[in-house]
Amino acid sequence: MFEKILIANRGEIALRVIRAAREMGIKSVAVHSTADSDAMHVRMADESVCIGPASSTESYLNKAAIISACEITGAQAVHPGYGFLSENASFAQALEDHDITFIGPSAEHIRIMGDKITAKETAKELGIPVVPGSEGGVADFETAIGVAEGIGFPVIIKATAGGGGRGMKVAKNAAELEVAFRTARSEAKAAFGNDEVYIEKYLQKPRHIEIQVFGDGKGNAVHLGERDCSLQRRHQKVFEEAPGPAITPALRDRIGMICANAMKKIRYIGAGTVEFLYEDGEFYFIEMNTRLQVEHPVTEAIFGVDLVREQIRVAAGLGMSFTQDDLQINGHSIEVRINAERLPNFSPCPGRVRTFHAPGGLGVRMDSALYGGYSIPPYYDSLIGKLIVHGRDRPEALARLRRALGELIVDGVDTTVPLFHALLAEPDIQNGEYNIHWLERWLAEQFG
Ligand code: ADP
Repeated sequence: MFEKILIANRGEIALRVIRAAREMGIKSVAVHSTADSDAMHVRMADESVCIGPASSTESYLNKAAIISACEITGAQAVHPGYGFLSENASFAQALEDHDITFIGPSAEHIRIMGDKITAKETAKELGIPVVPGSEGGVADFETAIGVAEGIGFPVIIKATAGGGGRGMKVAKNAAELEVAFRTARSEAKAAFGNDEVYIEKYLQKPRHIEIQVFGDGKGNAVHLGERDCSLQRRHQKVFEEAPGPAITPALRDRIGMICANAMKKIRYIGAGTVEFLYEDGEFYFIEMNTRLQVEHPVTEAIFGVDLVREQIRVAAGLGMSFTQDDLQINGHSIEVRINAERLPNFSPCPGRVRTFHAPGGLGVRMDSALYGGYSIPPYYDSLIGKLIVHGRDRPEALARLRRALGELIVDGVDTTVPLFHALLAEPDIQNGEYNIHWLERWLAEQFG
C-alpha cells in the first residue's frame, strides 16, 4: 500500500480523499493555489505545496507543478478528484512516465472514453445501447440534414469535445437545424478549441440514469446500480438519488450487467460511470466518465462501501474488497448540491462565510470544505457542499433531507438551499415523477 498520496484537487472532494487516506493510514499531500492558502484541504492534509497563482490553468491544471510537488514530498500516487485533471489522458501518462501511480483508469481507458464520438464508438463495440444519431462527426449542413431526416426531428447537436453541460443545441426542424448547426460549431470552437459536432436523436422526456461501475484492472468488474440525476439546470445536475425511482430490479440487472461486462472486456480499473438517457424501458448511452463523480456518495450510502478507499486499493494492486454478490441495496439516498449562488438567476455568490453549521444526526452526511470565517474565492466552481441523506426508504430519505436542510446554516453568502426547500414541497418530487426537463420547466414557471 502507498505511504503517501497527493490530491490534485481542492474543496470538498480533496477532503473526501484525505479522509479515506487517513482511515487507511496513508499520509496526504494537498496542493493549492495562492488563492487557497487558507482552504480547508490545506489545513486538513498532512502536508501542502503551493503550486501556482489563483488561475486554475496555472495551478490545479499545471501538470509539471503537480509532478514536482510529488517529487518534493515523496508522494507515490495522485488522486485527481473530479474535474481539473481527472480525465486528462496525458496527465495520467505523464505520471506513469515518472513512476507515480494515477489513482484512476489507465491513460488508454481515458482516451477511448474521452471525446464523445470515440466514447460512443467504444460503447457500441462493447455492446452498450447508444442514442441513434450520426456515425461520428458531421462536417457540413447537407450531411446534418440527411442525418436529421433519417432519425427524425427533433435532434440535438453536440460538440465532440463538449462537457459540463455545454456545447449542445436542439433543433425541431430543418430551418432551426441550419442555425443550430452553425452556432454549435462556432461555440464549440470558442469553448473547446475543436469545432467538430455530431447529431443525436433528441429524446423528449427521458430520465438521466447512470450506472456506477468498478473494475480491478485484472478483468474483474462490478456494477453498483444506478443514480437518477434527471433534475438538472442547464444540463447540470442539482439533485441526485439512488436507487432511481423508475428503475425496477430487472432493469437494473439488465443494464448493470451490460456495463459490468463491458468493463470486464476492457479490464477497466477503478471507478467509472456509464451515463444513459432512459425512456420507456430503453437505455441509451450518452457518455462515460472515467473518474469519481460528484454524486458518488448516494451509491456509497445504499451499498455501504467507500468508493475512494476502493480506488486507492485497486490503484495499489490490491483488488476490490467486494464481489457483485456482496453488493446489496439498503434503503434510499439523496444528494443535493449546495452552490454559493443567488437565486433566481443562479449567479455566483462568492465571499466571506460568517457562520457555517453542518446538519447532523442519523443518516446525514455533509461533505463540505467550508468553515466559519472562510472566504469563498471567486475563481473556482460554485459548489460549496453536498448534503447527502440516507433512509430506509424514499419517504424517509425525503423527510430526513427536509429536516437536515433546516439545520444547515451558511451565513454570509447566498446559496441554493431555498431551491431545495421549494422542490421538496412539490408533489412530483415527492412522488419521484420527473424527467430531465422537469426542473427547467418548473424554474420558468416560478421565476419566468
Ligand atoms: P456533458 O458531458 O456536457 O454533461 P452529456 O452528453 O452527458 O453532456 O449530456 C448532458 C445532459 O444533456 C443529459 O443529462 C441530458 O439532460 C441532455 N442530453 C444529452 N443528450 C441528449 C439527447 N440525445 N436527448 C435529450 N437530452 C440530451
